[in-house]
Amino acid sequence: MRLPIIAGNWKMNNTIEDAVKLANELKEEANKTDVKVVICCPFTVLADVRKAVEGSKIKLGAQNMHWEDNGAYTGEISADMLTEQGVEYVIIGHSERRQYFNETDETVNKKIKKALEKDLIPILCVGETLEEKESNTTNEIVKRQTVKAFEGVEAEDAKKIVIAYEPIWAIGTGKTASPEDANDVIAYIRNVVKETYSEEVSEVVAIQYGGSVKAANATEIMNQEDIDGALVGGASLKAEEFSAIINF
Ligand code: PEP
Repeated sequence: MRLPIIAGNWKMNNTIEDAVKLANELKEEANKTDVKVVICCPFTVLADVRKAVEGSKIKLGAQNMHWEDNGAYTGEISADMLTEQGVEYVIIGHSERRQYFNETDETVNKKIKKALEKDLIPILCVGETLEEKESNTTNEIVKRQTVKAFEGVEAEDAKKIVIAYEPIWAIGTGKTASPEDANDVIAYIRNVVKETYSEEVSEVVAIQYGGSVKAANATEIMNQEDIDGALVGGASLKAEEFSAIINF
């Protein structure tokens, strides 16, 4: 059975004081839940949040990394720099990175492979734009993104990857995919993993939904058969909301 995983994506929010306060507020709530809880912080607060969540169930995540080990890549962060900070998860290919920072299926694939090599668990984001949804190409888009991201990844490593299905039109907009529609796309992605690897791999891979998840809709989303958790943006910045989501 797949254990649900709920990850907060803080994006470019929280300086140290606010980050530590929020992490402290979440600790107790995280210890009450059976799901895996991850908070994906900005790089600059990782060290302080690590100290704050020590001894709790909360795992540390980052929001991006480079695919090279080191070198002349001004402004970038390597996998080793993350693991050194106690980071266990890393979001790869978030739509905001694809949209604003020119990330492609190719760079996403390189990052996925490097993260796995360095024992980081990638949270791979896939999802369609509103235009793509309206032209009924959602399945085609998520299939392409998933297949390309997994290219060259061995089956045993593929099992470790967490996929987040995030329709772009639902991110930060207050619009959510209906739980049934989200479940259908996620079941489709699971089938893509099955076709690429095997039924065994597809049954192990956790696939989250992301896009305006909040306390009010978390239970309905999480109760869907194929949905194994959530990637939460805006609502993860409020202790009360995120606590309610992880205890859905
Ligand atoms: C996200 O950033 O991955 C996200 C899903 O954001 P929000 O929950 O704010 O829509």
